[in-house]
Order: sequence, then structure tokens, then C-alpha cells
Amino acid sequence: MSSPLDNLPDLSPLGGHWTTTTGHHIDFGHIVTMGRAEIPGITWPYEPEDCPITTNTWYLDDTLLLCDGCGTDGT
Ligand SMILES: [Zn+2]
Repeated sequence: MSSPLDNLPDLSPLGGHWTTTTGHHIDFGHIVTMGRAEIPGITWPYEPEDCPITTNTWYLDDTLLLCDGCGTDGT
């Protein structure tokens, strides 16, 4: 799942910010609007609509879960 867009955690400790993207993600299986993290030093290898990655990594002291492929919020 993913956090509500108005309840995404603050990315400023990472120097980043959120963008929103609407599309299909394999994790969700239908069209959704998701938060996508933009973090300096990290380039996501895929766009959310064609992301085949189903693994995630925790950030912000294990309070934020981001897709390893496209950086969308999986918390
Ligand atoms: Zn992804």
C-alpha cells in the first residue's frame, strides 16, 4: 500500500521532496496516484508505469518504504 498523498513523510532529512505520479504499478495492479520521492544522489531506474521491481528499501529510520525501481511510496 501507500500513504495518503496528504500524509507523506517529510523528505527534508534526505534533502528530497515528493512528486506525484498517476499510473499503473505492479504493486497495486490498478491506476493510482502515488507519491514519488525525488532524493539527491538517487536515480530510479524505472518509471512507475513500467516498473517491474517489487522490492523496497526503508528510509528515514525505517519509517518510509520506497520501491527500489521507481521510488514510489510503498509505506
Ligand atoms: Zn516501482
